[in-house]
Amino acid sequence: MPRATKIVATLGPASSSPEVLGRMIRAGVDVVRLNFSHGTAQDHIDRATMVRDVARAQGKEVAIMADLQGPKIRVGKFEGGKIMLVTGQQFVLDGGSSELGTNERVGLDYKELPRDVKPGDTLLLNDGLLELTVDAVRGEQVHTTVVVGGELSNNKGINKSGGGLTAPALTSKDMEDIKTAMSFQCEYLAVSFPKNATDMEMARQLANVAGEPWKHKPALIAKIERSEAIPALESILKASDGIMVARGDLAVEVGAATVPALQKRMIKMAREMDRIVITATQMMESMIVNPVPTRAEVSDVANAVLDGTDAVMLSAETAAGKYPVETVQMMSTICLEAERAEEISLDASFTNKTFGRIDQSIAMAALFTAYHLGCKAILALTESGSSALWMSRHKIHVPIYGLTSKVFSQRKMALYRNVLPLLMPNFTDRDEALKHAETLLVELGVLKPGDTYAITCGEPMGYPGGTNMLKVCRVG
Ligand code: PGA
Ligand code: MN
Repeated sequence: MPRATKIVATLGPASSSPEVLGRMIRAGVDVVRLNFSHGTAQDHIDRATMVRDVARAQGKEVAIMADLQGPKIRVGKFEGGKIMLVTGQQFVLDGGSSELGTNERVGLDYKELPRDVKPGDTLLLNDGLLELTVDAVRGEQVHTTVVVGGELSNNKGINKSGGGLTAPALTSKDMEDIKTAMSFQCEYLAVSFPKNATDMEMARQLANVAGEPWKHKPALIAKIERSEAIPALESILKASDGIMVARGDLAVEVGAATVPALQKRMIKMAREMDRIVITATQMMESMIVNPVPTRAEVSDVANAVLDGTDAVMLSAETAAGKYPVETVQMMSTICLEAERAEEISLDASFTNKTFGRIDQSIAMAALFTAYHLGCKAILALTESGSSALWMSRHKIHVPIYGLTSKVFSQRKMALYRNVLPLLMPNFTDRDEALKHAETLLVELGVLKPGDTYAITCGEPMGYPGGTNMLKVCRVG
């Protein structure tokens, strides 16, 4: 079985040469993440071009995910670049100050903070490593006491425990970045800190307008990393193509201990709603500096696979770590082993699943047939990738080959669990298309004479949403 779980890797200084990126792709990267929290527009354009070139040189296509910075709430800068906060001391966050920070006070990037907090609130700085309690709000100043001290350096993030910061999900920088991302037609656009479905709808509108010159409409990923997003999960999922379990910020807002259960719930819900899901942050954290992961990290990746995630993500491990290629290799091995241990069954929910669309009913029929006949593969001839997506929401351990004439769909499917995207020419004749698909899979060594496979397509060919036919074949 080919690896079913996909690997998303973030690019950064450690992985921005064609040579390293080439080795990472060979080691198993399916989707490359461009993190718009760092770098200039030109940096991202250059990286996107490099990704396309390096992948193509290997005869592969990887998807590009542009990840917007969002309203990361940050402190300003310090005189000496950093300070040491001592537990018990007073510290002022000053929205009205444009001066460099000292041991007693610091300015704010986010001027609204004084309006969003009240005495008794807990503020967490630098991904939760530092903790402050709000004593009073005086004008533009938030007066606090340090509960957990430590080093605080320039532009570190601020979270409020329990959520409640009013910053909108899309900043003016994000709006510019969406234009940049559409100029290289990213397959996925990840929105940081959405609170509700409206944030996602707004992002989609902006992306579709910016993508208009290329008739490009990216798939949207909602990063679930705010307290407010949890009760709104179902409507956010409806408004998105997928979600990211963004454990970094989420853990700071809701408490780290609640994240594992939330991860399971989010993965289950996404799959049930035919959406994709990425599990992210600190998955192989120790490999930033070490050549091997900890036992706990190995288990974390394996458990995300067993939870049913579409993809596991690497952040600093590949962006700034010492072992970007080795980390991808290791992650790939862990995924493969976990998948072998996975229980194979069409879950009971399958027979209860309701659907009203012809294409969806064909996809489900293919899945049911392939499972019971023990097919070697399912071949989904798909324009948009939808039929492959529906099939991939169930664990049956029959690989799904998503065959499409559209490069965008091919790359988009790179993120779908258990879907192997392949490009094929655009046929108008159904029988020619079916014959070509079989020949392609035989040439790739997937199918051998005597093997049974299920194939779906739409007739007439070439219309998205047009899947209306299932055929079960034996290779002659
Ligand atoms: P980030 O998002 O890496 O952009 O902060 C992921 C997370 O918060 O886990
Ligand atoms: Mn985040």
